Amino acid sequence: MIDALPAQGVPAQQVLAELAAMREADLPTHGGRLFAYVYDPAVSGLDDLANSAYALSAHVNGLDPTAFPSLLMTENALVGAAARVLGAGPGTTAPDVVGSVTSGGTESLILAVKAARDARPEVEKPRLVAPVTAHAAFAKAAHYLGVHLDLVPVNATTFQADPVAMAAAITPDTVLVACSAPSYAHGVVDPVTEIAAAAAAVGVRCHVDACFGGWALPFLRRLGAENGEALPDFDFGVPGVTSISVDLHKYAYCPKGVSVLLHRDALLRRPQYFAFAEWPGYTMINPVISSTRSGGPIAAAFATLRHIGDEGYLRLAAQTRDAVRGLAQAVSEVDGLRLLAPAHTTVVCFTSDDPALDPFVLADELAARGWHTQPQLPFAGMPASIHLTVTASVAPQIAAFAPALADAAAAARTLGPTLLPPELLDMAASLTPDQLTPEFVAGLAETFGLAGDDARPGARMAVVNTVLSAAPPRLRERLLIEFVSLLQHPTFA
Ligand SMILES: *Cc1c(COP(=O)(O)O)cnc(C)c1O
Repeated sequence: MIDALPAQGVPAQQVLAELAAMREADLPTHGGRLFAYVYDPAVSGLDDLANSAYALSAHVNGLDPTAFPSLLMTENALVGAAARVLGAGPGTTAPDVVGSVTSGGTESLILAVKAARDARPEVEKPRLVAPVTAHAAFAKAAHYLGVHLDLVPVNATTFQADPVAMAAAITPDTVLVACSAPSYAHGVVDPVTEIAAAAAAVGVRCHVDACFGGWALPFLRRLGAENGEALPDFDFGVPGVTSISVDLHKYAYCPKGVSVLLHRDALLRRPQYFAFAEWPGYTMINPVISSTRSGGPIAAAFATLRHIGDEGYLRLAAQTRDAVRGLAQAVSEVDGLRLLAPAHTTVVCFTSDDPALDPFVLADELAARGWHTQPQLPFAGMPASIHLTVTASVAPQIAAFAPALADAAAAARTLGPTLLPPELLDMAASLTPDQLTPEFVAGLAETFGLAGDDARPGARMAVVNTVLSAAPPRLRERLLIEFVSLLQHPTFA
């Protein structure tokens, strides 16, 4: 076991070598073969620039914007850039836009829900309306903030939010209506114009979650406009949109820890702040959840945006679009595979119509060939699928991906689908969350080779995914809590 607190300090070079050795077990963050978690533009020199900028400001504290004016300036510049990308700022229909830099999409969404809740203190039991395809972070926000989440079914073929059903779900207690541009799971842009109009008609705020694709969609729209292929309106140009979130650590290709939450005006933002003067220390005034905040991610984001520039992002979006088309083409060339939703943004999501070709087995076969995809469990009538988050770095990999996919599909067919003993499936379907003791889950993890020293990412996951698929969502949640809790334990040297 590696000791984080040795009796005598270890020389710097050795510590770095140890970290590098541990990093070797990780999935590859660069190279365009990991289709989730990471966003790689493959711009040479960008990592060095971001790392240097990060180091310059790592010890700057965002607690007090007057103490570190560099942080205030860079944050305001990031908010201004995000506003301009998202159809707001001088000369637009949203000239009074304001915003905050947060640590990530989840924090942006929690704050959007908090601002909406606290703007309506008279509502005793506040509610949030969102499509079932909305990011899980809305559920987390609702849970943390004591807001009831009303999830609305989506169109069964397009997976777009249904604006009529969304409108019908709004009650007098609804403080916020949310939609996605685009959704994470399928890369689908919701009908923002209709949803925002329905919310505005009854005086309710409307948040557009552009965390995922908010830095790609505007550039894809510009490219599409050149070719006469329109992507739908989703930004502050749409009347009734009151707030938008966009993660800079996704398609702005910044190091992790930066997202922007924009509000159409300062009045809408005010209830987002928390201030407290009733203690003997400094008066606390926080726009975001954290109080002490590192300037590192913000400086790195500023450097990244400034170095890539508007034209650079347009070029990266074109590369991403070409990669998406190449991947979609590769999928369509394999018998039995089918795109679950049209690949109009930065996601390629596909499923199998052939019972002999199990998507989870296919994902394992792809991983064995060095292509790391994200399996998605069946949910609400949607079949099991494979999700690919596509970034600019994927473009040069397409020629290698197509034959790898064909080969992996052939191998998956030979292996056949994962067939579990009926008793195990029955058990997965009928267990109650309370029956999942830590010991029970530890036994399961052992059985599947997911625990212990030889457990590695990239173990064959099809069996696990099949068991999870058989379990209702509540049970999936509890299983994974117990499993992750098993992994997260202190080590003692
Ligand atoms: C990633 C994502 C989020 C959450 O963002 P984190 O940065 O992971 O906290 C929210 N919404 C969408 C659509 C996302 O893709």
